[in-house]
Amino acid sequence: MRVSKLFTKTSKTAPADEVAKNAQLLIRAGYIHKEMAGVYDYLPLGKIVLNKIIDIIREEMNAIGGNELSLTALQQKDAWEASGRWNDQVMDVWFKTKLASGSELGLAPTHEEPLTKLMKSFISSYKDLPVYPYQFQIKFRNELRSKSGLMRGREFWMKDLYSFSRTQEEHDQFYETISLAYDRVYDRLGLGDITYKTFASGGSFAKYSHEFQTLSPVGEDKIYVHEAKKIAINEEVYNDEVLADLGVTRDELTERTAVEVGNIFTLGTKFSDALDLNYTDEDGTSKRVVMGSYGIGPSRVMGLIAEHFSDDKGLVWPENVAPFRVYLVRIGGEQAVAHADALYDELSAKGIEVLYDDRDERPGAKFADAELMGIPYRVTVSDRLIEAGQYEFTPRTGGETTLLTRDELLDKLN
Ligand code: ATP
Ligand code: MG
Repeated sequence: MRVSKLFTKTSKTAPADEVAKNAQLLIRAGYIHKEMAGVYDYLPLGKIVLNKIIDIIREEMNAIGGNELSLTALQQKDAWEASGRWNDQVMDVWFKTKLASGSELGLAPTHEEPLTKLMKSFISSYKDLPVYPYQFQIKFRNELRSKSGLMRGREFWMKDLYSFSRTQEEHDQFYETISLAYDRVYDRLGLGDITYKTFASGGSFAKYSHEFQTLSPVGEDKIYVHEAKKIAINEEVYNDEVLADLGVTRDELTERTAVEVGNIFTLGTKFSDALDLNYTDEDGTSKRVVMGSYGIGPSRVMGLIAEHFSDDKGLVWPENVAPFRVYLVRIGGEQAVAHADALYDELSAKGIEVLYDDRDERPGAKFADAELMGIPYRVTVSDRLIEAGQYEFTPRTGGETTLLTRDELLDKLN
């Protein structure tokens, strides 16, 4: 992509009312645009990053048998009335609206009810189970406070997978499988070292649920971390009984603030009871389907990564989610243009994602944009460097600038 063709604009300032560092940086670097508190547009750069996060999650969900689908955001109330969650006291984040005919609709804050209802048309026999549908979908939640940028949106992306199993045992097996898949997701997102599988309250069908909590000074959750075991306990269940269950003692734990980037939850028959979702087992008897739900917030993850991997110059994307791998800076006249054009074509042909700053801007402005946008490697082509047969190579993560020959550069990037 050439910067001259990329629809975006960096800026020295963010909106005055924006208090979250992640949103300030992402707005200034031209990744997102703010509509109102908790509601952001993804500009082309932001959409590339969001898609990269989504692609990592999708690969890991497909690898454990997930089936991607896409459910509607518009919700009729019947399924939600059956579960009791149409009530605004029970589900306090609803956005509701009306059809022209006057009947009430809601904008889905999550999808347990409609999917359970839909499954009644597809599950009848034990042969139809287990099944693991999932989606990436914009959820709507009328959050009371939305001051954390992408980390707490009123409109945000969620990956939600739901498991439908024959038995508790079959459910438990999948629960372990997806827990491991989540570990791989956070590793690949560059968050593995600071993300802890955290014991949290389990609802009526399991003693615990598990949250994946990423350490962050701006986190809204308090957790107690056990470094050696790489687990944590949410303060909501931090008590002697849980400590005993996990075989840990208070003095081994450190209190930290963290952001919930995902969770896995045993639903049991809560929704299959409410919506009457059954299957006929091998012995001919009718049984309730055993369910689970498993969320990850790609928008929140993007905000968290932006916030965590940044410095006073701007964003510092981990390579796996960076919108481009190389920021190619061109300084100089005709010779530099021809040389940089050729290098851009060559790297692009090799499948290396290059953002080519082909504007007639001052070098300082190009360098500042490269840093603000957080592209992992900056490569500079200039008349002086061409004479010397060299390229400047600067990693965004604070490494020194080195001078490389063409072969050395290609080696580094391959
Ligand atoms: P929280 O306690 O932070 O409000 P939650 O328990 O409501 O989270 P879930 O309903 O389980 O979250 O949603 C699944 C995932 O979606 C969460 O783990 C989180 O990553 C993401 N998520 C939830 N609410 C938001 C939001 N308002 N903005 C962005 N991401 C969100
Ligand atoms: Mg919530």
